[in-house]
Amino acid sequence: MGYSVKTYAKTPGRPNLISVLHGFESKPNLLFIRHADNISASRAEVWQHPPYSGELSKGRIYGRGVADMKSGLAAMIFAGRAIKESGIRIKGGYSVASVADEEVESQYGMKYLARGFSRGMSPLLVADAAVFGEPSFPWIVVALKGGVWLRITVKGKSIGSGWPHKGVNAVTRMAKVLLELEKLDLGRLDHPLLGRPTIAAGTTIRGGVGLYSISDRCEATVEVYTVPGLGTPEVLSKVERLLEKMKRKDKDLSVKVEPIFEVDSYLTDSNERVYTCAQSAIMSVMGKHAKRIGVPSVGDARFLRQLGIPCVVAYGPGEYGREHVIDESVRVESLIRVTKIYALTALRFWSATG
Ligand SMILES: [Zn+2]
Repeated sequence: MGYSVKTYAKTPGRPNLISVLHGFESKPNLLFIRHADNISASRAEVWQHPPYSGELSKGRIYGRGVADMKSGLAAMIFAGRAIKESGIRIKGGYSVASVADEEVESQYGMKYLARGFSRGMSPLLVADAAVFGEPSFPWIVVALKGGVWLRITVKGKSIGSGWPHKGVNAVTRMAKVLLELEKLDLGRLDHPLLGRPTIAAGTTIRGGVGLYSISDRCEATVEVYTVPGLGTPEVLSKVERLLEKMKRKDKDLSVKVEPIFEVDSYLTDSNERVYTCAQSAIMSVMGKHAKRIGVPSVGDARFLRQLGIPCVVAYGPGEYGREHVIDESVRVESLIRVTKIYALTALRFWSATG
């Protein structure tokens, strides 16, 4: 299709492909990014259309990963091919990165690509701007919440379960802690795109060694999604204040909190060229601009910030909020429209920047 493809893999079987369109290798380089991994189909038997069939029915393609985000990749590579076949002569760079591991922690994908190369070695790092093809249709995602992931550990005193009053049950103490954390006041921040910060107390919990004994240890994770103005130190001090208050009421409560990892929130400036070019392309194809939205997810965009590459956080043919569902699907019409929008975005980006 007119691309040269290079493969970079941190580990065998988890490749990242970076493809550059022949004849479009110069600056300014616009990079389209999609992740190659999918979540599992979970219970295949409850799907109306088998999850690995790619079935086409009533104008929609079905299957795990079609929206999130194989259709995004299809749009990216076909947009490049259309530009090439049109014979248009504008100076610019067009590349497509297919990256691993976004659904987990990006350590074989964007994290590796962002850290693993010195500047200039990889087209990824020389991009002037980027577009992620995550499902967003018909909207455009320009903001991501930040987050702080916490591990809570409660220590108790183990004893045979026939003498509960002689031990300290770490599991029931944890239950109380999580119920209080769920009500934690995160302040009055209310961001126009990202809304309010949230806390999910007890996304995982582990405690107890088996029947017949009271457990002396319980661990749980808590996930706080943040908005600009609320950082990790503020979250930690709010959590610690609450735990101190609980300890004062319950002398047997021994609990500690530690951050596992954190990410800052991300905002694309509305004057950013890649964003204005994408919106102008959307206007040409859809007849109106896309609504700007923010989402509570971590996303790979955070790695581009480290590299100073501005991006559209998500604009892709999969419908917003319909990823990771049973009978995942994409409308063929949206796929074609977004392909056109990608091609026009590149052309406008090159003429505006060049
Ligand atoms: Zn995705």
